[in-house]
Amino acid sequence: MVELLFCVALLAGIIAMGMYKAPLWGWAAGLAVAALVWQSETVHGQVGLVGALLWLFAIGFGALAIPGIRRNHVSARVLGLVKGTLPKVSDTEQQALDAGTVGFDAELFSGTPDWDKLRAVAPVVLTPEERAFLDGPTEELCRLIEDWQVRHAEREIPEKIWDFVKSNGFLGMLISKEHGGLGFSAQAQSLIIGKIASRSPDVVTIVMVPNSLGPGELIEKYGTEQQKHYFLPRLARGDEIPCFALTGPTSGSDAATMRDIGTVFRGPDGKPAIRLSWDKRYITLGPKATLLGLAFRLFDPENLLGKGENVGITVAMIPTNHPGVQIGRRHLPSGAAFPNGPNWGRNVVIPVDWIIGGEAMAGHGWRMLMECLAAGRAISLPSSATAGAKTMLRFSSAYARIRRQFGLPVGRMEGVEEPLARLVETAYASEAARAATASMVSRGERPAVISALMKYQTTERMRQAVNDAFDIHGGRAICDGPSNYLQSAYQMVPVGITVEGANILTRSLITFAQGALRSHPYLYAEIKAAQNPDRERALDEFDAALADHVSFSFANACGGFFHNVTGGWFAPAPNKAFDTANWYSQLARCSRSFAFVADLTVASLGGSLKTKQKLSGRLADALSELYILACVLKRYEDDGRLSSDRTFVDLAAQNGLYRFQEALRGVIDNFPVASARWAMRIVAFPLGMPYRPAPDWLGHRAVKLVLDAPEVRDRLTRYIYVSHDVEDPTGLLEVTLKKVVAAEEPEKKLERAVRTGQIRRYHGVDWIGEAMEKGIVTESEGQQLREVEALTARVIAVDNFDPAALKPNYRTASSLRGQNGRGYGTAAAE
Ligand SMILES: Cc1cc2nc3c(=O)[nH]c(=O)nc-3n(C[C@H](O)[C@H](O)[C@H](O)COP(=O)(O)OP(=O)(O)OC[C@H]3O[C@@H](n4cnc5c(N)ncnc54)[C@H](O)[C@@H]3O)c2cc1C
Repeated sequence: MVELLFCVALLAGIIAMGMYKAPLWGWAAGLAVAALVWQSETVHGQVGLVGALLWLFAIGFGALAIPGIRRNHVSARVLGLVKGTLPKVSDTEQQALDAGTVGFDAELFSGTPDWDKLRAVAPVVLTPEERAFLDGPTEELCRLIEDWQVRHAEREIPEKIWDFVKSNGFLGMLISKEHGGLGFSAQAQSLIIGKIASRSPDVVTIVMVPNSLGPGELIEKYGTEQQKHYFLPRLARGDEIPCFALTGPTSGSDAATMRDIGTVFRGPDGKPAIRLSWDKRYITLGPKATLLGLAFRLFDPENLLGKGENVGITVAMIPTNHPGVQIGRRHLPSGAAFPNGPNWGRNVVIPVDWIIGGEAMAGHGWRMLMECLAAGRAISLPSSATAGAKTMLRFSSAYARIRRQFGLPVGRMEGVEEPLARLVETAYASEAARAATASMVSRGERPAVISALMKYQTTERMRQAVNDAFDIHGGRAICDGPSNYLQSAYQMVPVGITVEGANILTRSLITFAQGALRSHPYLYAEIKAAQNPDRERALDEFDAALADHVSFSFANACGGFFHNVTGGWFAPAPNKAFDTANWYSQLARCSRSFAFVADLTVASLGGSLKTKQKLSGRLADALSELYILACVLKRYEDDGRLSSDRTFVDLAAQNGLYRFQEALRGVIDNFPVASARWAMRIVAFPLGMPYRPAPDWLGHRAVKLVLDAPEVRDRLTRYIYVSHDVEDPTGLLEVTLKKVVAAEEPEKKLERAVRTGQIRRYHGVDWIGEAMEKGIVTESEGQQLREVEALTARVIAVDNFDPAALKPNYRTASSLRGQNGRGYGTAAAE
């Protein structure tokens, strides 16, 4: 019995020492004391097997505590072993890794997140000027947009919209005031982009592109003074329309392998010049652009720039009317109207001065792009995708309340409640993560890993939100026309999924592979040490990192096991967590499990991690769930812990933790190394799977809040554009919703009367008049019902057309090719 107690105490002691990262000498001393206690008369009375093992480990740890022994006999061997297995970092990967900053992602990788770091991120704060712009010109722009006119009638962004955005400075939001722009924060840009996106995913592209990766941002950050003074005010005023061309037919996701080439030669005036040949496609704003930002690989065979023959990826800006620039033809991306098309050129000569940043920045293009992308990926697409999800909730909650079938609003049926509950969760959680991430960028962070996960998560969730909205609307969503307010979002879903790093690549390669290298506390230091050609220094650096790494791994193994066995009861929560303390504890528990599994994954797979994309994709999902849930808790606090929001927090937390568990389970079940698989399972799920999806009643409560409490619906869909104009299809929804809610009681009376056969509701019959005559509803209730009836008829109506009016859309592909002279168009066809 005493021996059993000793073993339990020993296990507890080992877990505690592991969790609190006891130093090596502490382990040696602790195990020696344990051995002495074991062999004492009170416990076992002799050394025995347990005592021998304890002494063995105590001596082992004691030896490791002596730096010389550890460095020369352990670290040196491990370094030799892992040199071949640690992931290799290529030049372009190195630049991507160096580009971003590490932020709260590192806390999640640590296994012991410091919540105060997230709490220190500002809530949504705008300057009075930014607020006025959001409430003024941005609202006005949204009012001006007629979706059908844009998407169908003109299939073009109308000139009046271009004029409005140019004259109000929308194109220069990221350009500093000093250079004529608005100099808005990332948070303000995110909100402005989101509001426009909620009105028209087409129109938002003409604001989004000049305010993201492209000539404006690149010149602001890297341009010469001359370039800044000349171009930035012109870009801010819209005198120049920029586009940025990286992608080509043979280089999509693998953009660094572009075949676009510039060759330096001595021009007729004796100065170096560049001869360019390129072939780009999918370039947004290309057909309208006056200034082409072009990425190409620069070679300098005569070394005129003094940077060697292979200078590297370089970015230049070229006026689109420059001789030889072929631009203006259009693609039809998902049938949308925003300008997008190819451009190409053969042996086009440009001066070296047109390189952004001048000669000094020749060859630095990839670094420039990666630096801008590390922050930019956190703004444009997360903002527009989040706005898209909120818009889908706003429209669908109204429609589901207005549309009746089987005598009930469809939103009251459990089957429809399910997608509505998903929309509520997405709207709340995506906005929480969008706001926190934009605030991080506003304070100067370039969170490469967070921006990657935000890009793919928000656009994937938006894809689901659009599908849910379509399902809830039934045929009303499918038939296109001026009254269809969902088609534009549906058309733009694949665009958001594909641009700025297609989602499959971003999920399965970029987020975790980059995250493991950047956000892991020791891995990057070990790789750098392993790559150091100076053997002695490499060993010193590796030894320091390895000692900390082993203690870190052991801490997460012990901490993960302990918190998982005790259900997270003892996992830490920050001060003043109040009613969400349990969710913080669960997050801390999961973070431990994640850190351990991530660590063991990298240690076991090394360089082959890049090809194990199903595993790294699931790890990216697990990390994303932790990040988004942490942001949900932050939003709840920032918003003042509103009691109604607690339902949304619980919904997001339960589903988020369940998805986290399933992602991690997928990693473990499929892990190729059996010993690691078992260790992961024992640490992460010692008692099986603890989390379940949110129960049905919680989803029901969330949907009820949205359908019955207008202020809650407003809060869930905040910052999007809301029309109240009954002539606008979305305004009609809002107006009708109010009237439908007000007429709930008379509506019930009418339904009852129809069901019991007291009145007949058929075409050609005045059933409301009949109900009034029979005293089923009062005169004023009857009038109310007539108004609701008329408005509802308009809400549920879909457009139909004279076939002749649709004719131009039926022209055949061959007639189009014949007419335009080029079928497949770009340089390859020349
Ligand atoms: C509407 C639209 C607008 C655009 N605007 C611009 C613009 O303004 N400027 C610009 O330069 N580019 C632009 N692009 C290009 C866009 O960035 C690319 O389409 C994108 O990078 C993907 O390249 P791709 O389409 O050639 O797909 P591919 O690279 O052929 O990829 C096909 C699929 O394979 C996956 N994949 C590829 N490699 C890997 C990997 N290693 N691991 C896992 N999965 C992988 C991808 O995720 C994708 O799902 C635009 C594209 C579209 C459609």
